[in-house]
Amino acid sequence: MTLHLYDTASREVSEFKSLKPSQVSIYVCGATVQGPPHIGHVRSGVNFDILRRWLIKSGYDVTFIRNVTDIDDKILHTAKHDEMPWWAVAMKYERVFTAAYAELNIMPPTYEPRATGHITQMIELMQKLIDNGAAYAPGNGDVYLEVRKLKRYLTLSRQNIDDLQAAADADETNKKDVRDFALWKAAKPGDPSWPTPWGPGRPGWHLECSAMAHAYLGEKFDIHGGGLDLVFPHHENEIAQSEAAGYGFAQRWLHNAWVTQSGEKMSKSLGNSLQVNEILKSVRGIELRWYLGSAHYRSMLEYSPAALEESATNFRRIESFLKRATEIIGEKPTLQLGKEFRDAMNDDLAVPTALASISENLRLGNQAVTDNDKAAIAKNANEIRGALDVLGCDPFDPAFVQSGSSDLTPALDGAIKLALAERASARERKDFAASDAIRDGLADLGITIEDTAQGPRWSIN
Ligand SMILES: [Zn+2]
Repeated sequence: MTLHLYDTASREVSEFKSLKPSQVSIYVCGATVQGPPHIGHVRSGVNFDILRRWLIKSGYDVTFIRNVTDIDDKILHTAKHDEMPWWAVAMKYERVFTAAYAELNIMPPTYEPRATGHITQMIELMQKLIDNGAAYAPGNGDVYLEVRKLKRYLTLSRQNIDDLQAAADADETNKKDVRDFALWKAAKPGDPSWPTPWGPGRPGWHLECSAMAHAYLGEKFDIHGGGLDLVFPHHENEIAQSEAAGYGFAQRWLHNAWVTQSGEKMSKSLGNSLQVNEILKSVRGIELRWYLGSAHYRSMLEYSPAALEESATNFRRIESFLKRATEIIGEKPTLQLGKEFRDAMNDDLAVPTALASISENLRLGNQAVTDNDKAAIAKNANEIRGALDVLGCDPFDPAFVQSGSSDLTPALDGAIKLALAERASARERKDFAASDAIRDGLADLGITIEDTAQGPRWSIN
């Protein structure tokens, strides 16, 4: 079976054919960096990372663009509230997002453009749209797209233009039609602005993505991705701008579903408890990734702490089989893929079916341990590790093997850190009897401490 993917525009699963042989170009809408990420934000990161890894595994050279929206009303609002410059707010949270992506082993994009770095390309695009007669500048500094002039509009969300509400983006008095949306917003006193031929202002969100996709991927590219909530208005308006400029734009649209709580979309108003940093106090990054990647990308994922814990426990079972297999075989498993796993991934990234194939490998692998059948242990361990690698959850991946903690539950990790802190403080007050007693006590538990220039390191025997 060749790779088949869903397309939101056609609402069908169809065979994936890239524009250029063996190459795939992808644009995914990134974060508006106004606060720390919650698990709903990073689900998109995990889903599209699995797509990317599967394309790479299938032999494609993938160019992957994920932007950063670093100017936006919400960022300006946070800046006022926190009494910080807007650019400092954007940079601060961009770093928090980057750290969260890294914890979850989400590969860095090929390029990660910031909106404010592409004002020139946005002005060029607006000029083109005005020259084409698709956009207009009423003279107050705003620039609008005239949606009734478009040959095609609302093809992705399949709405009727007459049913559309007014675009909620700027003062309606300057618009020809209330449904026209802002490409560019006139400067307001005290807000950041950039000069344009139509007056100073700042970009509308939709324009940013059309300009950056064009700058990095050209007039046509293979896949555009993002969260389901972006279909309208964001992606419709990206299509409108890009097609009115004469670009072919995205050949296929993929949207990931939400993380829900009690059936509702997770949002910032639900508080801090669902922030990635908070959740990573109870499970490891690899376990959170396993959980977020476990549902089909088009299915809602209903979050509960119990569901997360159950998923993490299942992952630890797989991990402990791989470790047991490594001991028995005498080397790490290699990366192999079983047919069932490959077929599932080719079927619109059917991860739940792929996970069933991993469970079957686990069952057969554990049976082989009981039977002491080394060939069967190796085969199943290799296929499990290969599958985990595609899902970005290979426990042997150096991304997860840091400070020994990937082998540990968070509680054990914390307990060892606590013991090391006690030992450091004993040494500081020159109580060497106490510090040696801690070291010896840990050694009795099979935990070896080694003092290095970077501080103490531990390993479990
Ligand atoms: Zn976008």
